[in-house]
Amino acid sequence: MRAKTAREAIVQTGHPVLRKPASPVSLSDIGTPDFEKLIDYMIDVMRNAPGVGVAAPQIGIPLRLFVLEDRSGGFDDDDEEEREKPTVPLHVFINPTLEPIGEDTVHFYEGCLSVHRMAAVVPRWHEVKVSGLDRKGDPIEVQWSGWPARILQHEFDHLEGVLYIDRMITQTFSTVANLEVDEEDEEL
Ligand code: ZN
Repeated sequence: MRAKTAREAIVQTGHPVLRKPASPVSLSDIGTPDFEKLIDYMIDVMRNAPGVGVAAPQIGIPLRLFVLEDRSGGFDDDDEEEREKPTVPLHVFINPTLEPIGEDTVHFYEGCLSVHRMAAVVPRWHEVKVSGLDRKGDPIEVQWSGWPARILQHEFDHLEGVLYIDRMITQTFSTVANLEVDEEDEEL
């Protein structure tokens, strides 16, 4: 049997695993060969899809774990500057908690690997703090704003069984093909 492609590995909306709150990763699993393999697999799926984040439920695993990385950023046009879109280095978050910083929100287009080829405007907190464990089990805490904060909120939602379509401005829901900008390589 041939291996699944990255796209085939990603479950699509309607699958129950995307709608149940995920279970915490047990600390004794962190660092085991199987767990390391799972994280490497998630990074692989994210890079090959391609996407900028993958949460474990998106590959059918109901655990509180996500990876993110965006190598496309760097303010190379006005649009990216407007949405505060720097390069986001690879991060792994295990059992994360998320809290908004301040009360500012930002409206911008967002897509999801599990709602393939669609996008919509989704209001998100401008800045958030996420704490959890990294892949070694060491504490990690980041406080990000703009696009990286949007990725964090999107992936964290996946651990709660929430999809962006629950939060979107419904009138903006569109196929990627109907949008002027190419959002498809930025699904998360
Ligand atoms: Zn998603």
